[in-house]
This record gives sequence, C-alpha cells and structure tokens, in this order.
Amino acid sequence: MKFGTKAVHAGVEPDPTTGAIMTPIYQTSTYVQESPGKHKGYEYARTQNPTRDALQDSLAALENGKYGLCYATGLAATDTIMKTLRPGDEVICTNDMYGGTYRLFKKVFEPFGIKFIFVPMDEVATIESQVNDKTKMIWVETPTNPLMNVIDVKAVASIAKKHNILLTVDNTFATPYLQNPLDLGADIVMHSVTKYLGGHSDTVMGAIITNHKELYEKFKFLQNAAGGTPGPQDCFLVLRGIKTLHLRMRQHCENGKAVAEYLEAHPLVGKVYYPGLESHRGYKIASEQMRDFGGMVSFTLKDDRVATAMKTLENFEVFALAESLGGVESLCGHPATMTHASIPREERLKAGLGDSLIRLSVGIEDQEDLITDLRQAIESASVKEGAIG
Ligand SMILES: *Cc1c(COP(=O)(O)O)cnc(C)c1O
Repeated sequence: MKFGTKAVHAGVEPDPTTGAIMTPIYQTSTYVQESPGKHKGYEYARTQNPTRDALQDSLAALENGKYGLCYATGLAATDTIMKTLRPGDEVICTNDMYGGTYRLFKKVFEPFGIKFIFVPMDEVATIESQVNDKTKMIWVETPTNPLMNVIDVKAVASIAKKHNILLTVDNTFATPYLQNPLDLGADIVMHSVTKYLGGHSDTVMGAIITNHKELYEKFKFLQNAAGGTPGPQDCFLVLRGIKTLHLRMRQHCENGKAVAEYLEAHPLVGKVYYPGLESHRGYKIASEQMRDFGGMVSFTLKDDRVATAMKTLENFEVFALAESLGGVESLCGHPATMTHASIPREERLKAGLGDSLIRLSVGIEDQEDLITDLRQAIESASVKEGAIG
C-alpha cells in the first residue's frame, strides 16, 4: 500500500459490533470479564484500549515498522526509551536537540547515572570518536530543532551497527511522510505525535515504533508498568489527524519552501535555515534521505539585536506567537526564550543557536497571506528599531 492509502486505512477496521467506519472512542477504564481471567483480551485501560490499538497499528504502518506504541506525550515516549538503559550506560546525542529532551536527559536521567554526550552530528566521524564499551545508544534528531541541521541517518546507522549500539531517531520534524528512519537502518523511531501527526494543535502525545520484538516487549511492559499512556479521546483525534497527513504535508512543504525562498531573497534577513535551500549545508543529504523538506524554517535578521527579533515576533498577524509546531496554522517563536530556554545559554550559543533566531512552523494557509505577513512583520520591526528608513 502507498502512503496516502495507509494514512487513511492502516490500523482502522470497521467496528465489529456496529460496523461504524470510524474507530469508536472506547471511553472506559475497565472491561467486564466472563469469569475470573476469562475476557476478550482487554482487562484494564492502562494496559489495553481498542482506540489506542488502532492508532498504534496505524503509526507502525506509516513508519514501515512492525510495532507501534503510544504514550501520553513525546517526552513520555522518550522517557520510556531511556528507562531501558541502566546506570553506567552512555548515550551519544545530537547537540542541538529539542530543549525538553535535553532537560529530560540532563535533569532526570543523568542523576540516575546515565551519561549523555552531546556532539554535532553533521560530521559523523565525531560520533565514532565518542564510542566506548559503555555506549548503548545514539540519539539522533533530524532535521534538528531549530537549526535544521540534517544528519545522515544511514551513516550513523552503520556506526551503530558496527559497534552494536541502538540507534534512535526523533522523527518529529520530518514525519513518516518525508522520512522513514527504520528503512535507513535505525532501530527505534520516536515521535512527538503532538506535532504533524496530530496536526491540529489539539492533543499532546508521543509514539515509539520499532521492528525489534525484544525492544517492543520492553516498551510495552513500560507502557503498562510506568503508566504513561494517552487517553482514548486523544487517540481518536490523532487517528483522525493522520487521515490527512499526506495532504497536509504536501502543503506544509510547498509553503515552507516558498517562505524560505522569500526570506533568503529579503534584504533585511540574515541567515535562513531550511534544508530545501541549496545554500543549506544539509541540502544534499536531505535530498537523499527525505522525500521533501517540510514546513519548518528558521532565520535571523541582519540587525541581530534581540529587540528587533522580539518586535518582529510581536508584529505577526497570521503567524501566531506560540510554542509547538506542525499544526495546520502557522506559528512563530523565539527559541532562545521559548522552546530552548531550558538549555543553558552557553550550550545554546555553542550549538549556533543565537539570541535573535526566529523559528517558523509554516502552516497550510494561502501562501500569499503568509508572505505578506512576513514582509510587514520584518519591515515594520526594522523601521521601529532604526535598522532602516
Ligand atoms: C515537541 C517535541 C518533543 C516533545 O514532545 P511532547 O509531545 O511535547 O512531549 C520531542 N522532540 C521534538 C523534535 C519535538 O518537537
């Protein structure tokens, strides 16, 4: 089956009791048993829920994986993956990763004795130099947030295989529509379903997909034992969102490219970070491992004072100033004070994430309106702050 057909159909069967074409929201905490231990495969809703089952199968199919599992949030999924590690283990991670993942690793898991080494991964050689016999996992995010660095998943996978290390890819930015890490050699795919998969800014959720039965059993055990499960209403909303993933992504990609090209040509704009621009250092690898380039664009202004960036953000009318990304509506944000505030400034600057960087999640609105909004936001901020006119 091709992607669009899977997005509409995978995991979803007509309801056996009524024929309802949409998976019902099984809003229940428990299931009645015929006699003790004799039941229909469902005992308690933390352990199993039919709405969740349908979504898990759908997500597995989209990532070309055998097994899918959902968690209450993206971070709950990451928390689950980390709980398969033990004190003394080491993880090599992308250095400009999502701020919340960084916080979870440094503030929650490091005190339990797991060590995290952050390296720039566009040079895969720097990964291998950090490998030792304690290295148990490599954690890749690509394209990275918010600088859109592109990491060669195949190349990292070959290092991981050579040293018998698990490779996890946070595929939130690309989505399975653009990139399938399991096909590129990764062992585990993690998603913040909150973003493009849900796609309508109305749910938080996370997911893990893998082809390894043993890993799946561990993640499933933790789903029940630690209890970070999503509710059935949220599963229903995401099932609904996924049905248009391919259509939404096409528009996100088209608009993302138009916005990036507009910004790159604008005289007041400094640097534009978008993997679909030939000027981007990850362009070549992105062209090979992704089917298109997505809707996330970051940029700086030539006048790189924080005040000018702040003014620009306040000026937006169509782009809403908010955290998160991947919904149908366009959002803008200031990583240094918003999504990435939990990363110490020094670490941030080392990773190239400056104080004046603006991040856009380009939605599926009409292109002309987005470009008009960008023009007025940038130009009137620069006039106010005295950069022009
Ligand atoms: C949002 C996000 C997460 C965390 O997911 P939540 O659903 O917010 O817990 C992890 N990785 C990336 C790349 C994200 O954008």
